[in-house]
Amino acid sequence: MLMNKAISDLKKTLTSKNVLTELEERYAYSQDASPGLKGVADVVVFAEDIEQVQHIVKIANKYKLPVICRGAGTNTVGACVTEHGGIILNFSKMNKILEINPENMTARVQPGVIVGVLQNEVEKLGLYYPPDPSNLAVSTIGGSIAQNSAGARTFKYGSTKDYIIDMLVVTAQGEILRTGSNTVKNAAGYNLGSLFIGSEGTLGIVVEATLKLIPKPQCSKVIMAYFDKLTDAANAVTSIIKQRISPSTIDFMDKNAIQTVEKFYPVGLLTDKEAALIIEIDGFKSSIEEQKDIVTKVLRQANASAIQYSSTEEEASKIWQARRSSMGACAKLKPNITTDDVIVPRENLPQLVKGIQGICDKYNLTVCMVGHVGDGSVHPQIPIDFNNKEEYKNYKLAKGEIYDLTVKLGGTISGEHGIGLEKRAYISKVVNSTALNYMREIKKVFDPNNILNPYKIF
Ligand SMILES: Cc1cc2nc3c(=O)[nH]c(=O)nc-3n(C[C@H](O)[C@H](O)[C@H](O)COP(=O)(O)OP(=O)(O)OC[C@H]3O[C@@H](n4cnc5c(N)ncnc54)[C@H](O)[C@@H]3O)c2cc1C
Repeated sequence: MLMNKAISDLKKTLTSKNVLTELEERYAYSQDASPGLKGVADVVVFAEDIEQVQHIVKIANKYKLPVICRGAGTNTVGACVTEHGGIILNFSKMNKILEINPENMTARVQPGVIVGVLQNEVEKLGLYYPPDPSNLAVSTIGGSIAQNSAGARTFKYGSTKDYIIDMLVVTAQGEILRTGSNTVKNAAGYNLGSLFIGSEGTLGIVVEATLKLIPKPQCSKVIMAYFDKLTDAANAVTSIIKQRISPSTIDFMDKNAIQTVEKFYPVGLLTDKEAALIIEIDGFKSSIEEQKDIVTKVLRQANASAIQYSSTEEEASKIWQARRSSMGACAKLKPNITTDDVIVPRENLPQLVKGIQGICDKYNLTVCMVGHVGDGSVHPQIPIDFNNKEEYKNYKLAKGEIYDLTVKLGGTISGEHGIGLEKRAYISKVVNSTALNYMREIKKVFDPNNILNPYKIF
């Protein structure tokens, strides 16, 4: 009843093409890349400007209905799944780059801008927006802010949070809150922006963001190092870091990931190796050969059994395409694909990688491991069949053990993918009760009626 009234109000505010009520449409926009989590929104709306977002939120607040923002719906933790129905607020029509300012080295964007599109545009001007989630070809700036997305380049350049200097946020009451200023530094009051970054759309709705850009590195080279032992690859990461050089990436693929990618998207990876590191070095042209020699020396000392170098940008991008297609390739092995996102202090990476392999062997599960290992971050991708009860039970047991191991090694259960619905039952393993209580209080302050993406995170 309330929903019917709300839909009628929404139709008065938005054009009819921007209000979807058919079941098929609602279902399609209510899922994300999380495995096995399902929901159906009552209505899907597309906002075209900030005022429309304010109207939508005011209607939701009036009728106390959930509002769930949606970028590309690629998060893997059910952060966009409409567990309790409500309104899906889709940002695909607010996808404009409003300004690129070369003097200030900033870009002002709407939330639906695709990360990869922004990167291409700023790079044409010799600028760089480093955060590079593996699915940057589709994921949006709004989604990246709400998940604090990271990627391979985080090792050298940091994650999304390091590039947000200002945001316009629509609050749960439909007001506009500005988090910063158009400057790279800001010490005026509390840093409210940091609360919204990584908040999964539970505290406010990002309707515009000003991003910091940096100069694009003059040159880069990809070094692909293969190892005959998994732990040698993990140990090589610490050896590289000890050299005090800073590659832009130190990424990882285990044997199953290499073989699966090569099977479905062949690019010439060496499939008889146990693991590979993808190391990218960048900087001035004159520095590349020196960096390459240092990294090569360390890799040889760390027992790399084969090393390949990209000689053109096309070759480098082929290697990255292969790495970025790993989840898609693994998804072809079984009806369902699960991916996780655990992170430990780098010194404990060899134990984590070995431990995950051991746990999956124990439960008879195939695991394809990839990860931004320079940060200590590992994504175990486990292809399974959710209809196979035994396999599903084993998967759940393995997941719990992987989290316990991660915590034992001083790590946490999400480095970049967030908590959403998928991990909320586990959050108390890594966030203590005092901190959780403060988080709940913060939620109440910003969203007293619990309408913004309710029941996500905790
Ligand atoms: C194949 C694959 C590879 C991936 N690789 C990486 C990786 O390398 N690194 C990484 O960090 N993540 C990765 N992810 C996870 C995911 O892609 C990222 O979290 C991504 O940034 C989400 O963007 P999106 O536009 O799809 O957001 P969505 O999934 O649509 O939304 C994510 C969250 O943001 C909220 N939201 C969306 N827009 C707004 C807004 N304007 N205001 C407030 N809240 C909003 C949503 O409600 C939801 O809670 C990967 C996912 C896949 C499927």
